[in-house]
Amino acid sequence: EIRLEKLTKRFGDFTAIEKMDLQVRNGEFLALLGPSGCGKSTTMNIIAGMESPSEGTVYFGDRDVTRVPMGKRGVGFVFQNYAIFTHMTVRQNLEYGLRMHGLPAAQRKRKVDEIAGFLELSPLLDKPTAGLSVNILQRIAIGRSAVLEPAIFLLDEPLSNVDAAFRSVMRYELKQLQRRFRQTMVYVTHDQLEAMTMADRIAVMDQGVLQQVGTPLEVYNNPANIFVANFIGSPG
Ligand code: ATP
Ligand code: MG
Repeated sequence: EIRLEKLTKRFGDFTAIEKMDLQVRNGEFLALLGPSGCGKSTTMNIIAGMESPSEGTVYFGDRDVTRVPMGKRGVGFVFQNYAIFTHMTVRQNLEYGLRMHGLPAAQRKRKVDEIAGFLELSPLLDKPTAGLSVNILQRIAIGRSAVLEPAIFLLDEPLSNVDAAFRSVMRYELKQLQRRFRQTMVYVTHDQLEAMTMADRIAVMDQGVLQQVGTPLEVYNNPANIFVANFIGSPG
């Protein structure tokens, strides 16, 4: 479980997030949805521990992690702009983190093979990464975090550079992956359809302020205000 309490982030006199309260339940797929500049990435960076809040608290379960550095939070994070090691094969990229954790070769192989199956990377495992398409590279970036089986998995617009045909397939793959490992997932998107089709619940933000949290149906049928109604495209 992730709990944000009165989270505020200022950059100079600009307030990027204002008094945000949000709970992400264990094993839940929560989409953080909102227009460009509304504060989604800032929220994610604070959950991951890459940035610290100006005010407020971040809890993982009962543990206050507000001052815990990123490397000690045990979160997996996938960014929009992946960084793949192009001098390594696909398998070497996928097992990189497991190697760092000192996992023996047999276990590394088992985990990498399983994750590669979910992400349709199995036939590519022994290929060099250089020259692979953006679509495939983003799968590798997702896989590299996923093999570590983080209890909290954060994805910030992971499909925004992926082309449309791949995007729908990868939505499905990601959903399967999340179900398999029952991860607590926060998935940032500005795409309403993506949020509606993938998430257990949606948190809608605008201009640094959380507008509404609810299941896709709740938010669609009963938008909290005009902004949410327009952004989600609710009828009436
Ligand atoms: P996008 O959909 O474009 O990725 P976002 O919802 O992720 O947008 P953020 O990146 O969280 O938005 O930014 C929220 C606001 O805070 C924006 O107005 C942005 O310009 C501002 N901001 C973010 N980081 C900084 C920073 N380091 N210094 C100053 N302003 C920042
Ligand atoms: Mg962003």
